[in-house]
Amino acid sequence: MKFYNTLTRKKELFKPVKKGQVGMYTCGPTVYDFAHIGNFRSYVFDDLLRRWLKYRNFKVNQVMNITDIDDKTIKGSIKEGISLKEYTKKYEKAFFEDLDTLNIERAEVYPEATKHVKGMVELVQKLVDNGHTYESKGTIYFRISSFKDYGKLARIKVEDLKAGARVCQDEYEKENASDFALWKAWDENDGDVFWETNIGKGRPGWHIECSAMSMKYLGETFDIHTGGVDLIFPHHTNEICQAEGATGKKFVNYWLHNEHLIVEGKKMSKSLGNFYTLRDILEKGYKPMAIRYELLVTHYRQKLNFSFKSLKAAENSIGRLQDLIIKLKSANGKTTAVKKLIENTQNKFEDAMDDDLNISIALASLFDFVRDTNKLLLEGKISKKNAKDVLDFLKKIDSVLGIIDFEEQDVPKEVQELAEKREQARKNKNFAEADKLRDEITKKDYIIEDTNQGPRLKKK
Ligand code: AMP
Ligand code: ZN
Repeated sequence: MKFYNTLTRKKELFKPVKKGQVGMYTCGPTVYDFAHIGNFRSYVFDDLLRRWLKYRNFKVNQVMNITDIDDKTIKGSIKEGISLKEYTKKYEKAFFEDLDTLNIERAEVYPEATKHVKGMVELVQKLVDNGHTYESKGTIYFRISSFKDYGKLARIKVEDLKAGARVCQDEYEKENASDFALWKAWDENDGDVFWETNIGKGRPGWHIECSAMSMKYLGETFDIHTGGVDLIFPHHTNEICQAEGATGKKFVNYWLHNEHLIVEGKKMSKSLGNFYTLRDILEKGYKPMAIRYELLVTHYRQKLNFSFKSLKAAENSIGRLQDLIIKLKSANGKTTAVKKLIENTQNKFEDAMDDDLNISIALASLFDFVRDTNKLLLEGKISKKNAKDVLDFLKKIDSVLGIIDFEEQDVPKEVQELAEKREQARKNKNFAEADKLRDEITKKDYIIEDTNQGPRLKKK
């Protein structure tokens, strides 16, 4: 199994620290608002990764932090005049609901930053003891020139940076790489958000939480760290020097970063205002699994151009899978040697996924399989036993993809017949009759959709 490691800019054979186990850390949401589908592209990628590791029999221990304290959450809570906890709770709850909607498996641990401040203070203290910091007006900064390899992940050189420049805000651009705040002294912008600690009265910077919480749950050196490419700098760059500056050990072996979901060439983001939340899209009537498929279908290291047109195409692809499931349930044809077909598909799927999660090739092999099976069904060459083998295989594949509903009910016979009559009426250009039949279908709680592959029945 190979993954592209941002640290080395190479595809590397995956070897975990402990045989058969994977420690994986994912930068989770900042719960200051509803997450948008760009964010969910990241989390669907993480989900695909963890599902693939599990498919390959690794025991996965995934930790995803919840950032419930930073510049944005504090600002939001003060604006609404409620406590930080009250403010973030609402968005945290929404986040977990959205994960479920998208069939994203739960990580093993979701540590909240506000519950781990003690560990962060201890980590800052270690960095102070190791001579990596300095203080200015109660704020403790990491001195990046004190860390030999600062910027190795993002490939920026410390010599190019302005010595002594420093930033206090959590997010900043590459051009501003400079000493950054580990611990921020309290000021009036923080309202009543502060901790009294042995390193002063204040609150942690954003970056320190991930170093502290990942090492707490996964150890000082662990296997995989993920996040969107925007996190390579400064966030992950800073995570590395905070962790390695304290322990002197390698922090993470494999860094995997997903590219962005973009809209008309631009990263979907809150600040640009070009975003849809998951809820916005569900309200437009799109099915969760179509959205999941759309977020999954492009290889994680390529930009994903989001459009409603491609979401429609995603719906069609899901429809093809669901159609097949329904047909297989009533298959009763002659016996064919489908085992070979299954084996070939499985090999192609597995090879593709082992190659840095090459989902495009994996899905292409799946849809070739769907086409071939449909053909056999049409020719009456799928027996009950064949159908069971195919369904079992699809279940195995879907433990990785998480897009198929195996429980979807067959369309009742009378609805199927109405649909066929309507198709006939349409062919005869008897549109009044076709509309009447469509209404009858609707009354029976089904809708009929005309797709490129012909009409398709769906439960309302
Ligand atoms: P945030 O809540 O802004 O810290 O972002 C949470 C995660 O979503 C991070 O891993 C980001 O890199 C990722 N992310 C933000 N915007 C996008 C986008 N347009 N496409 C893909 N991932 C994104
Ligand atoms: Zn992080």
